[in-house]
Amino acid sequence: MMKRFIHSRRAGRNMRDRIKKIEAGNFRIAAASDRGLLRSRNEDFYGIFSPGQSSLAMHGILLVVADGMGGHLSGAEASKLAVESLSRAYFKDISQGASAAIVDRIRWAMHEANREVFEIIGERIEGTVGTTCTAAVLSEDRVTIAHLGDSRAYRLTSGKILQLTKDHSLVGEMVRRGTLSREEADRHPSRNFITRALGLRESIEVDVEEYQLEAGDRILLCSDGLFTMVSEKEISSIAVEGTPQEACKRLIERANDEGGEDNITVIVAERML
Ligand code: MG
Repeated sequence: MMKRFIHSRRAGRNMRDRIKKIEAGNFRIAAASDRGLLRSRNEDFYGIFSPGQSSLAMHGILLVVADGMGGHLSGAEASKLAVESLSRAYFKDISQGASAAIVDRIRWAMHEANREVFEIIGERIEGTVGTTCTAAVLSEDRVTIAHLGDSRAYRLTSGKILQLTKDHSLVGEMVRRGTLSREEADRHPSRNFITRALGLRESIEVDVEEYQLEAGDRILLCSDGLFTMVSEKEISSIAVEGTPQEACKRLIERANDEGGEDNITVIVAERML
């Protein structure tokens, strides 16, 4: 059985009309992407992919946010290809009952996507074109996160916000070393310098972690256009307000209220029971 392609897009204007929502398994999910106010195009891309009901428990729902980098159209090309390639690799052979654990499958899929993006785009100008790639696989009571770059995954649980990803960026490393505060990092002139990305080099080192989810927990995936504009404190309160699609809409509006300096992409998923 083929994977079912649920939704994958790059939105330009009129974000309000373009918030997508789906329900699959015990999750309700919404996503939106906005060009922001200053950029001439949107180089972010996202995807939500769900297999048929029979494979849902074993393979889960795949969510991906990618923020492309590189001149001309290359960044946009890289983020789109990464999302499509990752989903293709992740759901490959599920009809044959491929049974590897989710952590292994998603890690393998990230390597496959890296190879494809590098061969098709990155190799042309090695070291300059690539994309961040933050993926979450939702499966009943857990989430598996795999990522490269500085697009983030957060878990919102009982009034707390927990960052599940470690920014692979110059400022992220400075924050971990204690030489920069998180607030300083968001305004730092070198905040766009990424230390790991997909498609940039022939080989990659992917971080993969699995977490339990309680009923009512939400997972937020976002590109840096959100968290460099809106404080984490505010993100944590907006992301749990109303339905996931209302949360997506408000998060993008807030990032634009604060200047909308970059493309903004958000996916909010809630474990319902
Ligand atoms: Mg960005």
